Amino acid sequence: MKYSLSLGKIMGIHVQIHWTFLILIGWIIYKNLSAGRTTEETIFAVLFILIIFVCVILHEFGHALAARHYGIETRGITVLPIGGVAELTEIPEKPREELIVALAGPAVNVIISFIIYPFLNITKETIAAMQWPSVDANTFLLNLMAVNLWLVLFNMIPAFPMDGGRVLRALLSFRMDRVVATRIAAGIGQFLAIGFVILGFLGNPFMIFIGLFVFLGAQNESEVVKTKSALQGYRVADVLMRDFSVLQTHQPIQAAVGLLLNGQSRNFLVMEGEQPVGTLSRDEIVKALSQYGIDVPVGQVMNTNVTFLHAEMPLGEAWQKMQQYEIEFAPVMHGYHLVGVIDVENIAEFMMVQNVTKSS
Ligand SMILES: [Zn+2]
Repeated sequence: MKYSLSLGKIMGIHVQIHWTFLILIGWIIYKNLSAGRTTEETIFAVLFILIIFVCVILHEFGHALAARHYGIETRGITVLPIGGVAELTEIPEKPREELIVALAGPAVNVIISFIIYPFLNITKETIAAMQWPSVDANTFLLNLMAVNLWLVLFNMIPAFPMDGGRVLRALLSFRMDRVVATRIAAGIGQFLAIGFVILGFLGNPFMIFIGLFVFLGAQNESEVVKTKSALQGYRVADVLMRDFSVLQTHQPIQAAVGLLLNGQSRNFLVMEGEQPVGTLSRDEIVKALSQYGIDVPVGQVMNTNVTFLHAEMPLGEAWQKMQQYEIEFAPVMHGYHLVGVIDVENIAEFMMVQNVTKSS
């Protein structure tokens, strides 16, 4: 995720904090000091947030390790002020696996609560003193358990992209088609999201953010599943472009401009001899021109983030891979041979054509 501060790798998974988390820390400090609390109390409050932050990371590791058990890797874990995100390289599609991976996160917070419980000092006074964001030595653990239980309840709200939404879809998928299950789960999610936004306007502005986050997440999930199902039964070979222009790494960017002006393509493959080594989009060409002039070699400014797709690969899988790696354009191989290129616009056009021919 962009604008994040890296904390390094833990168990092979990249952990980072989003910069907006720093705003949260700033807000806590401001709230405490402006309420006349001492520096010591303020430090306690910040420490408390940092420990919650660790609980959120552990929650995400719950998802990531459960996914790893099913052979799915996690690209990274990012902590945002509204919670964490584990970026799995793919979403498990078997209902049982999706269920376990979704439950593994909240399960971690349940375990943390069980660990804290024997050390709690629950009296009328400590409960009365539980006034967040004021946390002191007496109420520290009680607050920590409350937050962990809140993380469980909040995440189990049956709305995408919250864990509860995935649990709901997995449970529905045991009995029905995944696309239908997703549509139902996303519909429930959006209904709840509207409720959050209304609640937000009535009092808690934080809920507006969560409502929007859930609403867009549900819509996105629904689109992804719909697209994948529309592409089902097709292979990359069905949409690849066999006729395409290539550039060589040693050619000047001027050659790319020539191709851009002469043809319809917006993306080009860059080769080193017979081997594809990079891509170059229209925007990248324009940027390179303005930065380095017309003589810079293509190899110096190309995008080296190349994802190779295979001609026999299911089209839905290729499309999802392109979404995940945020690439628009990829070389298509058959064995060790380059047989064509594919771009996301091709796939979109292909779907449009399919829709028209299906409905007529
Ligand atoms: Zn979760």
